Amino acid sequence: MMNNICYVVAMRAEAEPFIKKYGIKEVEDFFAPLPCQLYEGMVNGMKLSVVLNGQQHGSDLVGCEAASIATMAAIQKLNPDLIINSGTCGAFLANGAGIADVYIGNRAMFHDRRVPGDDAWSTQSIGNYPVWEGSKQLAEDLGFKTGKVTTGSSLDMQPCDLKMIQENGGELKDMEGAAVGFVCSLFGKPVLYVKSVTDLCDSGAETFEEFSRNLGKACEALKNANERIIEHLSAQR
Ligand code: SAH
Repeated sequence: MMNNICYVVAMRAEAEPFIKKYGIKEVEDFFAPLPCQLYEGMVNGMKLSVVLNGQQHGSDLVGCEAASIATMAAIQKLNPDLIINSGTCGAFLANGAGIADVYIGNRAMFHDRRVPGDDAWSTQSIGNYPVWEGSKQLAEDLGFKTGKVTTGSSLDMQPCDLKMIQENGGELKDMEGAAVGFVCSLFGKPVLYVKSVTDLCDSGAETFEEFSRNLGKACEALKNANERIIEHLSAQR
C-alpha cells in the first residue's frame, strides 16, 4: 500500500506546476550540504514528497550524478514506498511519439556507456533496471503509452548513442532515468517513470531549440498526468 510517495525531478520547471497545484512546501536545508531540495505535504491521506536535484552555478543539476545522490538521499531520509521519476524526454517519431505525449517507463537503460569487455561488462554498464511492478497496470488503467527509458549524459544524440538505443529497444531519451533506476535497484525500492516528450530525436530539428520551445507544454502535460497518477495511487489505498 502506498502511504508515502516520493518524486525525484531534475528541473524546477518540470516540478513547479504540481508543487503549486498541491501547495506543498519547501523544507529548507533538509538535505544540506547536498544541493537537493525537498517539498512535502499530504494528499488524500498520502505523504507526498518532491525532491528536486537542486542547482549549481545558477542552473538546474540535470544528469545522472545529481539524480543518483538525490535518489539515494531521498530513500535514506524519507524511506518512501515508491520513487517516481518524473520529467521530460526526447522520443522517436518512428515509434509514433508526439510532443507532450506522456509515457510510463517499462525499463531503464544507459545508452552512452561504451565499456569494452565481455557480456558481464556490457550487461552491467547498460543497466536495464526494472520498474515498479504496478507500472504496466497503471499505464493501462490511465491510458498512457509505455516505453523503455534510455539515459545518457548529453542532450544531443551522437550516432553511437542511436546505435545503442536501437540495439536495445530504447524509446524515451533522458538524462536521469537509469541513474534513478540504478539507485532504486540497490535499495530494492520500486520506481515508476513518468516522462513527457519535449522533442523528437528523429525529427531533424535542433534538439535544444525544440526542447525549449516545447518545455512549457510538456510540463503542463506532466502535471496533468501526475495528478491522475496521484489520484489513482491514493484510490488504491
Ligand atoms: N539547458 C537546458 C537544460 C535541459 S537538459 C535548459 O535550458 O533547460 C534536458 C533535460 O530534459 C534533462 O533533465 C533530460 O532528462 C530531459 N530531456 C528532454 N529531452 C531530452 C533529450 N532529447 N535527450 C536527453 N534528455 C532530454
